[in-house]
Amino acid sequence: MTTLHLGVDVGGTNLRFGVFADVECVASYRTEMNLRERCAQAGTAEAAQKLVLEALAGGYHRLREQCPEIASVGVAFPGFVTAEGVLRQSPNIPHLEKFALESALADTLQLPVLLENDANAAAFGEFWALRQQNHAAQSLIYVGLGTGVGGGWIQSGRPWRGEGGAAMEIGHLTVVPGGRRCGCGNQGCLEQYASAQGLISSYLEYTGMNADPKIIAQLAQDGVPGAQRAFQTLAEHLGQALAHVVKVLDCRQIRIGGGLSGAWNCFGAALETSLRDSMIPALRDTVEIAPGNAGDEAGMRGAALLAREVLFD
Ligand SMILES: [Zn+2]
Repeated sequence: MTTLHLGVDVGGTNLRFGVFADVECVASYRTEMNLRERCAQAGTAEAAQKLVLEALAGGYHRLREQCPEIASVGVAFPGFVTAEGVLRQSPNIPHLEKFALESALADTLQLPVLLENDANAAAFGEFWALRQQNHAAQSLIYVGLGTGVGGGWIQSGRPWRGEGGAAMEIGHLTVVPGGRRCGCGNQGCLEQYASAQGLISSYLEYTGMNADPKIIAQLAQDGVPGAQRAFQTLAEHLGQALAHVVKVLDCRQIRIGGGLSGAWNCFGAALETSLRDSMIPALRDTVEIAPGNAGDEAGMRGAALLAREVLFD
């Protein structure tokens, strides 16, 4: 019997569940749920934790009807995950501080569970895609461009969490001193220029008009200068920030995921140029940067495969 591993990608507005046999997704389930609002409404840590556990268990039980032999569960969660599998904090989902989610879910499901930061899980999903191509890389930087800008790093084949689960917060590298205000309390963070909201802000600044990222991407492809400039701004700041990260890590593989990566045509070439121009000679042309292979399955797939590898190898 094939052993199956469940991966869950927890987003701010939906939860996605995928059952994997090796790297192939054999069953999946998605539920729309605004966890941010629901946890805020829950009011207390206890109620918010219960809500998250019930949502995760609900998806598991639903898929278990089709796939009774699920052996482990990997959960990709947007927040700081410690080495002990404790969710230290979720910046976007309230009332979940110091939540021992990994052990609580393992108790609830009576299964081995692994909790990982969502960008790290996606990084592992992309790392697996490289391994499948028999690539020798042992490290990989992942950047998720979505509502925010998330960063993940695979080092020696494993996600690097840092001392308190907050490693690779590259969305909050300062790229414009004194620039746009950020939710973290600082100014000029990468997230304010390279996320969906950052793109919207740039377009508004250059044209005086509001548009969502899909429209801005279409306008950029149609050659509209304000839209092209908004993507140019994203590419320049992201390239410079990634050059700094590469100078620290000497990592050769970068994958860009998240919703905005679908607009790679609008910024990929400018991103490569910016990265190259900001690099030191010793590292120039050593780095391969590309859109991710695993698409929006990266987090779910990475969580499932990482759980399998960590819990069973
Ligand atoms: Zn910030």
